[in-house]
Amino acid sequence: MGQAAGGSRLLLRRLREVMAGPGTAQSRLDRVVRAIAANMVAEVCSIYLRRAGDWLELFATEGLNPIAVHKTRLRIGEGLVGTIAQTATPLSLTDAPTHPKFAYRPETGEEIYHSLMGVPIIRNGRVCGVLVVQNRTLRDYDEDEMEAMQTVAMVLAELVGQGDLVDTNDLRDAAARRQEPYVFDGLGLAEGLAMGTAVLHEPRVAVSQLIAEDAAAEQGRLHQAMGSLRRRIDAMLDEQDVVAGEHRDILEAYRMFAHDRGWIDRIEEGIKTGLTAEAAVERVQMETRARMASVTDPYLRERLADLEDLANRLLRHLIGKTETAAGDELPDETVLIARTMGPAELFDYDRVKLKAVVLEEGSPTSHVAIVARALGIPLVGACERVVEQVEPGDLVVADGDTGQVIIRPTQEVAAAFAESVAIRAQRVAEYAALRDLPAISLDGVEVKLHMNAGLTVDLPHLDATGAAGIGLFRTELQFMVASTMPKLTTQIELYSAVLDAARDRPVIFRTLDVGGDKVLPYLGEVREENPALGWRAIRLVLDRPALLRYQLRALLIAGAGRSLSIMFPMVADVAEFRQARQILEVERRRLERLGRSMPKEIRVGTMLEVPALAYQLGALLPLVDFISIGSNDLMQFFFAADRSNPKVANRYDILAPAALKLLADITAAGDAAGVPVSVCGEMAGRPLEAMTMIGLGVRSLSMQPASIGPLKAMLASLDVGELRKYVHTLLEFPDRTLRGKLESFARDHGVAI
Ligand code: PEP
Ligand code: MG
Repeated sequence: MGQAAGGSRLLLRRLREVMAGPGTAQSRLDRVVRAIAANMVAEVCSIYLRRAGDWLELFATEGLNPIAVHKTRLRIGEGLVGTIAQTATPLSLTDAPTHPKFAYRPETGEEIYHSLMGVPIIRNGRVCGVLVVQNRTLRDYDEDEMEAMQTVAMVLAELVGQGDLVDTNDLRDAAARRQEPYVFDGLGLAEGLAMGTAVLHEPRVAVSQLIAEDAAAEQGRLHQAMGSLRRRIDAMLDEQDVVAGEHRDILEAYRMFAHDRGWIDRIEEGIKTGLTAEAAVERVQMETRARMASVTDPYLRERLADLEDLANRLLRHLIGKTETAAGDELPDETVLIARTMGPAELFDYDRVKLKAVVLEEGSPTSHVAIVARALGIPLVGACERVVEQVEPGDLVVADGDTGQVIIRPTQEVAAAFAESVAIRAQRVAEYAALRDLPAISLDGVEVKLHMNAGLTVDLPHLDATGAAGIGLFRTELQFMVASTMPKLTTQIELYSAVLDAARDRPVIFRTLDVGGDKVLPYLGEVREENPALGWRAIRLVLDRPALLRYQLRALLIAGAGRSLSIMFPMVADVAEFRQARQILEVERRRLERLGRSMPKEIRVGTMLEVPALAYQLGALLPLVDFISIGSNDLMQFFFAADRSNPKVANRYDILAPAALKLLADITAAGDAAGVPVSVCGEMAGRPLEAMTMIGLGVRSLSMQPASIGPLKAMLASLDVGELRKYVHTLLEFPDRTLRGKLESFARDHGVAI
């Protein structure tokens, strides 16, 4: 390639001189085609540029009839030039007139030319013109010549982008799309509504220096950046907190492409033709992007998107800016946009400025969703290709409740959302005002409203909401967001911090509930046909008792001198509870032997999440200090409907007579035995569901912190005695759901649901 590359470098230098030289844009373009024709030993060199309405217009030519300039026009897709534009793919033909797509334009006088080589001129991922050379002879253009043409086309794209030649609006239909609103129906993964300015988690790099003096130096820079990129990807794959699920798949794809010879070769070719390493990466990226526009196969699109992302990462390694946007100056109201991100990365952002996160990936159980919920940041996932659609600086509305994301909303929509954001903020303020009021009904019935928690970031909510305590502390969250198994001391630290924050309020620690979809990468992967019914929670830790012993040890040490409540998850039979309790006893005795100070009081209970346990209450109740109904799992097993499968998750109503009878029976059995029964699944935080359970006799609920205010307001407007009488008349109804009747009750009695 040596000679051709040398020639193309000379040409680039010449082009740079022309572009920086005097004259109008048109006169410079005329000189450009002359220089290219001379350098490529072509009789013809022409440049066609895109005009509004998807036309290509001949803008400059050396060799064709000059009267055709600004006269000859082709539709995108018409003739060979139109085909190159449409497919964003170069074309090299020894005998062009024989090609079926050849469209003859008499004013150009091109009938005497046989061979043709054309390349798209691509800017911002979009074809904005076509560069063509032609020769009279049946010439075979070689690969090096094609490379050189592509490099020249890239430089030309810059010239076009300056806007002197064509109104850049003509080039903008893709860009114009970027000015219109775009709506995504994603998945609401962490609730809340926010509006703010789009910031890309991984900012795009704008390449300014296109032409290089020293190709060898550029190759060196490329290799260095490629090396550091690969090391970074390997390191990310080693960081275990990102290893689960979709995040890992994407990283694996990055790794594959980062070693892909074809991709690297194409970048190296670009450098050989005289581009800087950045420009060469960008050139390949532009081609990928342009090709992506016509790809519809979802798998291929996904891979091309991986490649696009990787190119952006490589650019950032080249310019030495490898950090995410977390270190940048953020707008006051930031909506962060990313394909995917790890939970730890979310912590890097300024909590005050970060208003919402929008991801292309993400599921309710992804770790980043768990952290976002804990931090109270609205998060919407499954917004396909949002990174591609959004421009940094765009206004974005994100609704974590409905999963809707609107980028560039119209003024009216933005105003409506601003209104909703304000109303919600006002409601939050009203609920905050209820913080210090007791949770008591109109007729004086007290209901304990606890909150669910799992990380230290949850703890300030205790005071902020006036929760009675923590009814469910999901200890697995610490294990899930960590990269390695939390050490004993780390566990003790967390549990102590929780008890400190709670002061005299009760806290119920639930032991590790992992397995199923709550994956701990460092535990090794277990593939199961039905993970929800599989080796999880108490089953897993009874088989791996060291894990449970460690955790119980940490809890006992943290609880020294205080009241400690421990609860076991997913217990399906009394024997499991006995066994777990026995392990606790062993640990307690061990610490006692070692002379450690003990908790003042140890209360031990169980989650009731498996229907079978509801039929063992006679044997169970004498053994436990309390029961907490995990309605999420209990209902998924009761109705045999996967709680994480949107196709069936809402098929059966939790307010169905059968489900309510089950809850009523458990509550009544607990009351009779003097064992407190509470409910800690999602239904506990929903006003109508909570109202119904209170009617059934439940006096303790544990919910996400944001629900405490609304529930206090509901309770303050409720006459429990009246409701109780009514609810019990409903249980034998044949209705599929009692929701409508209960709603009517609330409406007729002025209950704030
Ligand atoms: C439940 O199953 O209702 C529950 C509270 O546990 P988790 O949601 O953590 O499975
Ligand atoms: Mg559960």
